[in-house]
Amino acid sequence: MRGFTPAPKPRRPLAWTIRDGGADIALTGDLDEGSDLEAVAREVSGGKVAIDLAGVGRINSFGVSRWIRFLEGVTRVRGRRVSLAGLPTAFATAAALVPNMLKGATVESLLLVYRCDDCNREEEVAVRSAKEASAERACPACRAAMIASVDREVVAGVLGG
Ligand SMILES: [Zn+2]
Repeated sequence: MRGFTPAPKPRRPLAWTIRDGGADIALTGDLDEGSDLEAVAREVSGGKVAIDLAGVGRINSFGVSRWIRFLEGVTRVRGRRVSLAGLPTAFATAAALVPNMLKGATVESLLLVYRCDDCNREEEVAVRSAKEASAERACPACRAAMIASVDREVVAGVLGG
C-alpha cells in the first residue's frame, strides 16, 4: 500500500467550534503561523475532551509547533483524557514524522483519501485501524482497486497496529 498526495485544499484561516461545555472541539482550516490555538486552548474544559480534525487543511512547520504547544497544554490537566479524530492526510503525514503531535492523546480515526487512477475519482474514508486502512477498496464506478493517500507505515505509526 503506497500513499499519494491528494490535491491541496484551498487556503482557509483556522476556525473552531466548541460544544459540550468545552469538551467537544472541531477545528477547520489551516494550521500555520496565523492559527490562534491559544484561544482554542482557553475554551477547552472537562475530563474527557474530543477534538475533531477532519476539517484541517494545510499544515506548515509553524502550525506543527503551535499544535504541539496546544496539545501539551490540553493534555497536561491531570486525569483528563484527550482523543483526536478524523486526522486528514496532511496531519497524519506530519504526525508520523513528529510523534509529539500526538503525545498524550488517543487517535480514534484517520480521514484518508482513496483514489481511482482509472477514473480519477477520489473519496474520503474514515479508518480506525491499520488493517482497515490497508483493506482493498474497489472504486464504486469502475471496480478498479483504489489507492490510499497515506501509506501503511504512516497509518500504523499514527493509529498503532
Ligand atoms: Zn474507477
